[in-house]
Amino acid sequence: MTTHREFQFAKVPSGMPTEDCFKLVEAAIPQAGEGEVLVKTHFLSIDPYMRRAMSGSKAYGQMRPGSVMIGRGTGIVIESRHANFKEGDAVQSEFGWREHVVLKGDGLRKLVSDLQPLSLSVGVLGQSAATAWVGLHDVGDIQEGLTVVVSAAAGAVGSAVGQIARIKGCRVVGIAGGPAKCRHVIDDLGFDDCIDYKVGNLSQALGEAVPEGIDIYYDNVGGETLEVALDHVNDEARVPICGQISRYNATEPAVLRNVEVLLDKGVRLQGFRIGSRLARRDEALEQLLDWWRADKLKYRETVSVGFETAPAALINMLTGGNYGKQVVQVV
Ligand code: NDP
Repeated sequence: MTTHREFQFAKVPSGMPTEDCFKLVEAAIPQAGEGEVLVKTHFLSIDPYMRRAMSGSKAYGQMRPGSVMIGRGTGIVIESRHANFKEGDAVQSEFGWREHVVLKGDGLRKLVSDLQPLSLSVGVLGQSAATAWVGLHDVGDIQEGLTVVVSAAAGAVGSAVGQIARIKGCRVVGIAGGPAKCRHVIDDLGFDDCIDYKVGNLSQALGEAVPEGIDIYYDNVGGETLEVALDHVNDEARVPICGQISRYNATEPAVLRNVEVLLDKGVRLQGFRIGSRLARRDEALEQLLDWWRADKLKYRETVSVGFETAPAALINMLTGGNYGKQVVQVV
């Protein structure tokens, strides 16, 4: 076999992406040069930042129509021209949406043999959960006994935020879309409580769920949920701005209604990107692996089977169809 499939970014979406924003093409399988490895893709990580990259956000590497869709992946080395790698090694890196990829061996992350299934390396033992760990520690300044609230609580990052906060001895309340997700967050992931933001009055529900106030609001969604959370924060609260998914399809500028809370209560609201904190990410990955081996972390994945399903998987995640990490199983 000399050709494989790749997905190109075809056009900038207007609002929610549609399948015609992507183009499936046949291309030659690349060849590994000296110091490189050829990898067969097993899983693609499907992430919200892809939507931002499709709008030309500079923070995520600028994609232009015709370029291969960006994205992390995990796979198996099928040819090695680097001394540290051999056929059969599992690796994880930036792959792009392609069935095979050539990667430089230097700095390439080799996965430990008990990391199975390989998809965990992009979810609960990968960048998603590492983002949760870094945001809670480095921005949230997490400590035992605090009250932590997290939005998109049933998703890849949010599910890890809540579990890490529980391990750290905090009280944790999630916010998620729908009763089934809220049940999952409490019953399977061990959060203390979870609010369905799609029904009723979110502010009232949050007030009842955290009568003691919020010490850390871990924000994955932005918009009205962020504003409501700010109405319930304590003095000196921390608000790691991890993501703003409710706004990724928005066309009008963002407005924060109650920005004065930051001043009045001395609240620290700080954005961060895991891509700018790689040393801490690697520390987080070590810790997560230890917790996972000690059976302290639960996970759920939404697996879309078949390389050709990648666009649908991205749309599914952006519309809340996923529990835990959304991945595409390529083989
Ligand atoms: P998730 O697995 O949480 O999937 C996205 C979820 O977002 C959906 O399942 C849905 O859950 C929720 N959602 C979608 N639209 C809305 C909306 N309009 N309002 C509220 N919730 C919505 O994704 P990730 O865990 O990968 O990412 C979570 C957040 O973290 C994103 O904002 C992402 O950009 C950010 N992120 C940031 C990183 C960083 O370095 N700062 C790194 C990785 C992720 P529901 O059904 O509950 O609505």
